[in-house]
Amino acid sequence: MGCWFEGLVWPSEADSPFNPFNPTNSHTTFMRLILLLLALVFAGCASSVKQAVEIQPVKFAERPKNIILLIGDGMALAQVSAGIYWAGVGKSAFEQFPSVGFHKSHSCDDYVTDSAAGATAFSCGQKTTNNAIAVLPPDNRPCTTILEDLSARGHATGMVVTCSAPHATPASFIAHREIRAFTEDIALDYLKTPFDCFIGGGEHFFNNRPDRLNLEDSLRQRGYVIRRGTTFGRLPLDGSAPFMLFTADREPMTASAGRRYLPEATRVAAQFLQKRSDKGFFLMVEGSQIDWACHANDANWLRAEMMDFDKTIKQALEFAASNGETLVIVTGDHECGGLALTEGPVKSDFQPVFSCRLHTAALVPVFAYGPKAELFTGLYDNTDIYGKMRAALGIE
Ligand code: MG
Ligand code: ZN
Repeated sequence: MGCWFEGLVWPSEADSPFNPFNPTNSHTTFMRLILLLLALVFAGCASSVKQAVEIQPVKFAERPKNIILLIGDGMALAQVSAGIYWAGVGKSAFEQFPSVGFHKSHSCDDYVTDSAAGATAFSCGQKTTNNAIAVLPPDNRPCTTILEDLSARGHATGMVVTCSAPHATPASFIAHREIRAFTEDIALDYLKTPFDCFIGGGEHFFNNRPDRLNLEDSLRQRGYVIRRGTTFGRLPLDGSAPFMLFTADREPMTASAGRRYLPEATRVAAQFLQKRSDKGFFLMVEGSQIDWACHANDANWLRAEMMDFDKTIKQALEFAASNGETLVIVTGDHECGGLALTEGPVKSDFQPVFSCRLHTAALVPVFAYGPKAELFTGLYDNTDIYGKMRAALGIE
């Protein structure tokens, strides 16, 4: 079985009456005038809102040395919109990005992707089938991930997440398995690729396994420091050793139940990785539970996760602004819940309304800040994010 999206041939749209660049379209000039007037009206409204967050950049390097890729699982335009309104217009980290684009999130075999194929698109630059962890159709051959590749090139690498280590998104950067549910096997793959830090849940996959292997012992023998908890004081933050910090035995608690570590963990990890290699670093950060809140159709949970993720983005931006050679990319892997923001029960409020309990095929926004951020404007495939990251770093 191959990719059914491959081989699709799109008709030329140049002659379309809907093409605003088509000179035969008599409505074009009039429509442009209307759009300009609308833009001026909205610009007038927006300028009255004070920009509370100002990330003042140092002079950027010509190209980035470091990449921080932040993934909001299940986060598309409606989730970002709600996050911006909840933060207060002008106060959200999302409003700080000079470059914004959209990606098409479909997987190899479905308009609606799951998180495994979604993350594999980012990590390998290839569309795969839903459920596949960094393996490709038709024969499930492993694809080298950007984390593995940069690790081999001498970059420091790390992941900070609010799910367990073998969960689909982090797994797709470091493991190769046909089925995402093979979590015990995915944990084994953490021994195959050198990485510098991991902060997230799922310790039992490493120290309390049905096969009685103790992966923590194996990692310690390779020089890793293994810690448990959500504070960072007992970690080798001077860069002297790689580490895993398990924030939970299973899945970490929800942000609404009091989970707070993601923003600080992101700052700590970036500063740590900077000390681990002169070549630069790759850090993947996931707001894993935005998706879970949307599956549950729980707007209060979503609000807490979006606020937590917004604070996390701010930490990444502040690091990048002070550093000048870090590219920050924020995106989601897919939409979840079919979220709509409808008229609220009171004036000047909105009502988050979910239309389903599964993922949807909506376009997903991409935000970029730092050297080469401009590469991320436009509308492209989720797989292009991989190529754009490599192009930004100057690899091939
Ligand atoms: Mg995920
Ligand atoms: Zn999901």
